[in-house]
Amino acid sequence: MTKLADSSLEPTGADETVRIDLDGREVALRPRRNRRARHISLRIDPATGCAILVLPLSASLAEGLDFARSKSRWLRANLDSLPQRTPFADGARIPVMGVRHRIAHHPDFASFIWRDSSCATINVGGEGEGVAMRVTGWLIEQARREITTRARAKAARLGRPLGSITIRETRTRWGSCSGKYDLAFNWRLIMAPADVLDYVVSHEVAHLAVTSHSPRFWRVVEKLHPGNEAPRAWLRKRGDELWRYG
Ligand SMILES: [Zn+2]
Repeated sequence: MTKLADSSLEPTGADETVRIDLDGREVALRPRRNRRARHISLRIDPATGCAILVLPLSASLAEGLDFARSKSRWLRANLDSLPQRTPFADGARIPVMGVRHRIAHHPDFASFIWRDSSCATINVGGEGEGVAMRVTGWLIEQARREITTRARAKAARLGRPLGSITIRETRTRWGSCSGKYDLAFNWRLIMAPADVLDYVVSHEVAHLAVTSHSPRFWRVVEKLHPGNEAPRAWLRKRGDELWRYG
């Protein structure tokens, strides 16, 4: 699988959000138990803009909240440095296969979407209220088409059978290989550069041949997508950016 972040975190029980006051500013914290954690720690979830409070089994929630308060300066600085969200709305700029496109809303047209590649524009007809939903649906369809075509071609190259391909919003992974033949991908990959999308597809298809991340596995990935260092580095450094759209 292609991990997005730390997928070993578990909710503490109820999926609660705790709000704490940091010098007059209310900050939302999501406590998560992690059985492998040694210390209490904090991180910011780029998808939600929420702070995640990671608790080892030995720490109480109260201890965690004390820790968070002691890190109020770090929390404020990191929350402030989160990139601004770009909603799918008229005039917004969003990447499609890494190419910046402008969303243009045409309320007088029927409710469908057409892309004008010559001027990198995604035209959206219909009422304003549904623009975000229609753009999301369109991007998911683009992701499905692009990923399915590539996955089928790569699986055929390996001579491996390929089952279903699911495109969805996965919080913790860019892609995964489950069962024997089934693959799943995060639709947000359609906004990454083509090289990155192709790498993630190659990675998951390679799991059809080799389950573990062994040297043999990486040789298969290399065969399907020569030069995987750059896309892996991109995902590490800039993958979070894909969450700020929509
Ligand atoms: Zn993997």
